[in-house]
Amino acid sequence: MSQDLNRCKNQSEQPSSRYDIENVDELKFATRAVLVGQEPDPSTGAISVPIYQTSTFLLEELGVNKGYQYARSHNPTRTALEKCLASLENGKYALTFSSGLAAASAVLNLLSQGDHVIVGEDVYGGVYRLFEKVFTRYGITFTYVNAADVDAVGAAILPNTKLLWLESPTNPILKLADIRSLTRLARQYAIVSVVDNTFASPYFQRPLDLGADVVVHSTTKYLSGHSDVIGGAVVTSCDQLYETIKFHQNAVGAVPGPFDCFLTLRGIKTLPLRMREHERSALAVAEFLESHPAVERVYYPGLESHPQHELAKSQMKGFGGVVAFVLKGGEIHARTLLNSTRIFGLAESLGGTRSLICHPASMTHAPVPYEVKQERGITDGLIRLSIGLEDVDDLICDLEQSLEKNLQFEVNITEEKTCSFNGSSFTADLEHQSGRVDDLEPLLTEQLSALAV
Ligand code: PLP
Repeated sequence: MSQDLNRCKNQSEQPSSRYDIENVDELKFATRAVLVGQEPDPSTGAISVPIYQTSTFLLEELGVNKGYQYARSHNPTRTALEKCLASLENGKYALTFSSGLAAASAVLNLLSQGDHVIVGEDVYGGVYRLFEKVFTRYGITFTYVNAADVDAVGAAILPNTKLLWLESPTNPILKLADIRSLTRLARQYAIVSVVDNTFASPYFQRPLDLGADVVVHSTTKYLSGHSDVIGGAVVTSCDQLYETIKFHQNAVGAVPGPFDCFLTLRGIKTLPLRMREHERSALAVAEFLESHPAVERVYYPGLESHPQHELAKSQMKGFGGVVAFVLKGGEIHARTLLNSTRIFGLAESLGGTRSLICHPASMTHAPVPYEVKQERGITDGLIRLSIGLEDVDDLICDLEQSLEKNLQFEVNITEEKTCSFNGSSFTADLEHQSGRVDDLEPLLTEQLSALAV
């Protein structure tokens, strides 16, 4: 369909308007978010890009269209979103998809049987599943490497390596890849470098400027920003990559509907404001957690304790709104917290207005085998927070009250030695019946490790 469209005579040229944007490159990010691709509707002046809820477009005569022919190939609402996204990532082209995984899949369609991909380990569980359960069946092989270690990535390069897939910061433990060094390395070997920029958003990080060939997004997250739409995007400045991925966008057909494009575009207009607020609150929450006695370790690139804090400062303009942490005492403590919060909603996903809490090991990263999760630090005590736009004092208060339940240890022992710890049942033989977790930690570790809770 898209090839046919190229052959059609295009009658879409509109008379120029005072609102047509020239020199887009000179505009600042926030201005681009509001204006690019979003010229007022030429027939009515409508300030919002209309939802072109149509599957097809009438031709004036055979071979003559107004730039649109069939909505899987092109739709004006989608075009507006794609123009805006390209501009925000400083790219030449953007293509949008029905989900982040559909976008990832479209990029993998660049490959052929026998090709090899290097993947930064600790990618989103669904991306891991896509690679391992779908693309391996087509003869594509994957090597997972610690992308924080440039030499390790270099050592994994094979003669048939065609793609380097990075996520930075990673989901869920916010590890960074040195995007500049790794994309330079990839270029030396003619390997296409891809960065999943979902966690940072283009407001805080622009991988194309750092040397990447392709950027991928789950627009479901920060870009749409309101937890009300699923979508994905691919951005590139390379003509050839664009043409091939565009071909697959149309040939495979996992495109977003016009209403989803409208919602995403509407969310993008406030991206800078939202990201600044997400970050401000995330840093405060991370600092609170770091000083809390029930918490063993906090992962947030904005903390000085993050091992790649300096790298984060050099390649990101901000640190994002996701915080991960490990609770002392493992899963049983994680459960207590996950089941206690009232403002943080227990749910998958991130990047919306409402703060969310999740247990990566059993939720977002459930598709990853247990041993692999352990190796990558996705332990049973790990918790991920998506910091939303509520008042940060309320967020900290919610965590404080919920964590207090972890500190107060209450065990009820029945005659059968079945105990319940803060509501979760297990069998044990504990002498203490209540107290502070710190006091009971040695007992807990010994007695609870064997429990199926
Ligand atoms: N990439 C990252 C980093 C993600 O966190 C997710 C989803 O959580 C995806 C890709 C997949 O996106 P979607 O759920 O929109 O398919």
